[in-house]
Amino acid sequence: MIDTHCHIQFQGYKDDRDEVILRCIKKGLIMNTIGTQKETSRLAVEIAEKYNNIYATIGLHPVHLFATQVDEEESKFLSHEEDFDEKYYLNLAKSKKVIGVGECGLDFFHLPNNIDFKIILEKQKKVFIQQFKFAQKNNLTLVVHTRDSEPDKNLPKAYDEMAKLLAKLIKKYGKIKGVIHCYSGNWIQAKKFLDLGFYLGFTGIITFPPRKTNPQPTLDLLEVVKNCPLDKIVVETDAPYLAPQLYRGKKCEPWMVEEVVKEIAKIRGKSVEEIIKITDDNAKKLFNI
Ligand SMILES: [Zn+2]
Repeated sequence: MIDTHCHIQFQGYKDDRDEVILRCIKKGLIMNTIGTQKETSRLAVEIAEKYNNIYATIGLHPVHLFATQVDEEESKFLSHEEDFDEKYYLNLAKSKKVIGVGECGLDFFHLPNNIDFKIILEKQKKVFIQQFKFAQKNNLTLVVHTRDSEPDKNLPKAYDEMAKLLAKLIKKYGKIKGVIHCYSGNWIQAKKFLDLGFYLGFTGIITFPPRKTNPQPTLDLLEVVKNCPLDKIVVETDAPYLAPQLYRGKKCEPWMVEEVVKEIAKIRGKSVEEIIKITDDNAKKLFNI
């Protein structure tokens, strides 16, 4: 199995990283550990250099463009305020273990207070375009982060904005290999990304039961899992976040990606072995590994 998106270099594993990696290795898991700014990208490469079965993706997450306090159940941190330092990332990209650029994209969920949304959106787009071009130039796969705001916020939909932006960039600069990580949009939006040649990455979110107060987003997502061409599906955990339902409340570990595989097998009426084979092949093709 290949966990195409985890953060094994994050602080959440500072006390048990070696044990967690060992558990993953014992299960034969291959991991892509993803950077979110300079320091976590550097650490991703450092860990990837140390372990055969770990690869690295380097880049700048939209939440790190402005200093803001991120305070959620699973993650509490003060985000950095960084620009995409091409020279710095180019140096990291010299490592053969670097396979992708990201996670980069649009995040309308964690917005800094006191800054106009228009200004935030412009900056998020600008930094995303820089990384799109960087990935293309260096023949690396683009790992795209897209997160909507709370529904009551009356902001544009991040998935719609991202689909428009990618279509424009591909028209201008040509094709790119990439994945919409932690996909949680609907089927209409999914089709737009698939038409642009993108893969969809599914996390433990697909194992969560629909929320009683608002079941539609989960039902929409399950429709995507049902309809997505099998050759466009990759699996991921986003560990240490988003532990699948069976382990909910615990810190997520990359080997738990097996729960995502099991859920896809159930939804698609295939055996677990078949889904492992299909998603492994897809991930290898997507990231040239
Ligand atoms: Zn992530």
